[in-house]
Amino acid sequence: MRVYLKLSGQWHLQNIENALVFLAADAQIKSAHLRQFPENRGRNPQKIYHCNNMIPFEKINKSWTLFLDRDGVVNVEVVGDYITRWEDFHFYEGVPEALKIFSGRFGRIIMVTNQRGVSKGLMTEQDLKDIHLNMLGNIEARGGRIDKIYYCIEMEGPNRKPNPGMGWMAKKDFPGIEFSKSVMIGNTMGDMEFGKNIGAYTIFIATNRLPPELPDRFTDAVYPSLVSVAREMKRKNESWNR
Ligand SMILES: [Mg+2]
Repeated sequence: MRVYLKLSGQWHLQNIENALVFLAADAQIKSAHLRQFPENRGRNPQKIYHCNNMIPFEKINKSWTLFLDRDGVVNVEVVGDYITRWEDFHFYEGVPEALKIFSGRFGRIIMVTNQRGVSKGLMTEQDLKDIHLNMLGNIEARGGRIDKIYYCIEMEGPNRKPNPGMGWMAKKDFPGIEFSKSVMIGNTMGDMEFGKNIGAYTIFIATNRLPPELPDRFTDAVYPSLVSVAREMKRKNESWNR
């Protein structure tokens, strides 16, 4: 059975057995944030986040690369379940807007996603490609882009995050990638480790998992949603370049 939960100001469909964990996680995100930024008490939770200002948003330009996880960042993820068809793929609120903003600033946007549901026989590789085709069409129709999607269907191996294989493949295909001018955005510690394994800045999106407490060796910042990162980047970027 699945229920809708309101977490960080957004509605998420989750298995009922996970509900208490996520509600606790959400409360933890909020209280950690309010300890750091007490002035935000009572504000719209969608606008709050905590971050240690390690990401130089103001400097991001076309020489920078965005690495993006998929499930739990771009689309609603049910932990322990797999998206096997387009009908079950739902963008989080604000994601098309976020990708439009990112597309105007990053030189390359690369999706890196573990998809071992294919190896488990829950879907075919063609099912995965169909989902991605629909996803890209949808993003492009709303003014955004993803330049290339790398997916790892293996159960283990050098290409499965947190291992850096998909990062190296991207660097081979896009020699302009500089890992020191890259940002990895994901919703698991595996994503944060992947980011640090390639030498990128890392942002944890706290949609459906407990965020790490900062400072954390793998995580540079924690935000409630992809669009909150995009809006923050836009704001800092514009005031810097004015
Ligand atoms: Mg994910």
